[in-house]
Order: sequence, then structure tokens, then C-alpha cells
Amino acid sequence: MISFEEAFSIVMSNVFETGTETIPFVSSCSRILAEDIKSDINMPPFNRSAVDGYACHSSDLQNILEVVEVIAAGKAPLHKVGKDQCSKIMTGAIVPEGCDLVFMVEESENAGNNKVRFTGTESKANLSLKGEDVKIGEVVLRKGKFVLPQDIALMASVGHTSVKVKTKPVIGIISTGDELIDPSLTPGISQIRNSNSYQIGAQIARSGGESIDYGIAPDNEQKTYSIIEKALDECDVLILTGGVSMGDFDFVPAVLERSGVKILFDRVNVQPGKPTTFGVHSKAIVFGLPGNPVSSFIQFEMLVRPLVNRMVGYNWIPREIKLRLAVDCQRKSDSRKGLIPVKINYDNEVLSVDFHGSAHIAALSEADGIIVMEPGIRSLKKGEIVNVRQI
Ligand code: AMP
Ligand code: MG
Repeated sequence: MISFEEAFSIVMSNVFETGTETIPFVSSCSRILAEDIKSDINMPPFNRSAVDGYACHSSDLQNILEVVEVIAAGKAPLHKVGKDQCSKIMTGAIVPEGCDLVFMVEESENAGNNKVRFTGTESKANLSLKGEDVKIGEVVLRKGKFVLPQDIALMASVGHTSVKVKTKPVIGIISTGDELIDPSLTPGISQIRNSNSYQIGAQIARSGGESIDYGIAPDNEQKTYSIIEKALDECDVLILTGGVSMGDFDFVPAVLERSGVKILFDRVNVQPGKPTTFGVHSKAIVFGLPGNPVSSFIQFEMLVRPLVNRMVGYNWIPREIKLRLAVDCQRKSDSRKGLIPVKINYDNEVLSVDFHGSAHIAALSEADGIIVMEPGIRSLKKGEIVNVRQI
């Protein structure tokens, strides 16, 4: 049995990066950029008025000013603004050359005869200078960035309508177990609905992978072997769940070896998730996650999610927040590294979810995060600060 830290470093040392593809920029949200994106324009492209008001020379601010024209957004100024003159201007319009200030409509009054007067004592410039946000040719988004909705706005603004992103890793899912049935069916005695395949599919999607569901493999070596063979051909990563414990029908490690997978570890000193198995094949990276849905969920978060992120060149680090424990947190045994699902209450304090064991999937629904209890630590006291890893 190895420590979680050793397991993590073995997984990470087997990362290979996916290729790239070019897609419409509107589809690139949550993908990872595979190129630097540069601006083809200055932003703003001209000296732009930040308010509705009157553009003038600041030296004329206290004088009565003749209005020479009205400039709407999207229209170019037609007249020069001379001494004791101004142009009425709308937000977003081009400030006439030579004007260094726009005073706000709210601080003006009509002085008759097509003239206005500033009523305030001082005015800000109220204009954005050409290129002050972004200069032409400047890199606005860097390779490796996780694309956010606001990045899509930036791509639109710089006219980058096709974008090169990392290809999503293709990740196969096989659930093993004779007791498993499709969720649409009503379980007979001794049957349970397959939930892992769908949970893992959703975890893959939010980690940035593309999943292929290979269905349920029975606890039968030959049948499991043929499904694994097909999946190894089609996937970058293969995840099996179940069949990795010590039961009489836990065939997964043996079948993986028969398929040419080199097992690099098969026991990790964690709770839950001890039988987590990891191996490599010439065609794919393989995980054997425990059958219990809570264990498989947590081990995916701890080991698979970081791997998927690295495969797309994203230097992902888990988001952890420091919060206070609302109540004491205890566990029965301290020999393993405990990964404890917790919820955050409305006072922003942490408490472990009411949890009967690794099959208690209903408890996991309440969890907002995971906290760690290192080997040797059996209890944490109310009020202690813990790192909550968001899930
Ligand atoms: P195993 O590791 O195969 O012994 O499975 C451990 C426990 O997890 C057993 O109670 C299984 O019935 C359950 N289990 C295994 N696979 C799944 C699955 N795909 N969905 C839900 N529960 C599962
Ligand atoms: Mg099983």
C-alpha cells in the first residue's frame, strides 16, 4: 500500500498531453486555449466619451460655450471645436480632436442661443484614451488559459472568431458487477441501479473530458476482457469501477493485466478508496476505482480530475478555502489519510455530512467539499481552521 502523495505523483508522472483543434470562439467556454490571442485593434479604437455630455477644451470649462454639433455613438465628428465652443456628445462616441474633457449633461444648463454652461466647480476628463485598455498587437489571452465567458467577449472584441484549443481527452467508463442494472429498471432482490457510470460521466464532463460509456461488465473475466480491449483502442483514459476489492468476483486487476495494462499501484492509504488501482497501457491510462459510489466520486476528484486537467495543458490546482469547523470532527480509525465530505453552513462554517459509509450516496449530495484528516489524526476540534477542497 502506498501513500496518497505517492499515488498522486505516479498518476501525474504518466500524463500525456492531448492535441489541438480549432473551433468557433462561441463554443470555447470552459476549454483550454492552445494559442496566444492578440488584439488586431486598439481598445478603445479612438478617444471615447465615457459619459453623455459636452466635449470642450478644459481651459474653456468656466465659459459660456457654443454647441457646434451633436455626436452620436457610431458617428464621426464633423466639426472642429474651437475656443469657447463644444460638441454635445453621447457615451461611446468619438471625442473631437483637441478636446481634453467631457463635462456631464447633469452638470450643464442651457444658456440660450444654442449655448451651454458648466454648472459644477470641477470636472473629470470623462474620456477613455485610444489604446488605453489594449494596444494593437498586444496578447490579450494566453495559451493554457481556461476560457471564461468574459474571455469570449474579449475574443469577439479582437475579432478572433476561430480559436485553437486543446482536444478533450476521451475517457471510457466501464462499471463492473453482476448486481448492476440500468437506472430505468426497477431492481429485483439483490440488484442495484448503476449510478457510478453516470456520476463519473458528469465528473468527466466538468473536468473537461469527453466520455464514452461502455455500459456494465458482468463479473466474468472473458466478457470484461473484451469490453476492456475495445475501450483501450478508443480511449485516452479508461475508468473501471468495482471489482478491485478482495472479493471472490473482483476480477478487474487480473483482467487488466491480461489486457497488457501494467499496474503501478493497487492500494492507497486513504479512507475511502483504499482499493484504488492505477495502470498504464501503450494506448491508454487506466484507473480501477472502487465500486462504492462515494469512494469512486472522491478518488475521481483527488486523482482523475487533476490528471484530466494536466492532459489539456491546464495547470489546475484544487480550489481550497480556509474555514472554521462548526462542530468537532471525529473518526473511528486514524491509520489512513481521511478524505471527509463536508458541507458549509450559512455561517460559512464546516461540518462533516451525516455519513454512514462509502455507499451512502444520499449524504454525498449534501457535500460542498472535502477536508483531509492526515494519518494519526483522529479528531479535529470545533473552531479549528480547515482547508476545504471544493468539489
Ligand atoms: P465492488 O468493489 O465491486 O465490490 O463494489 C463495491 C460496492 O459498490 C458494492 O456494494 C457494489 O454493489 C457497489 N457498486 C459497484 N459498482 C457500482 C455502480 N456502478 N453503481 C453503483 N454502485 C456500485
Ligand atoms: Mg463488484
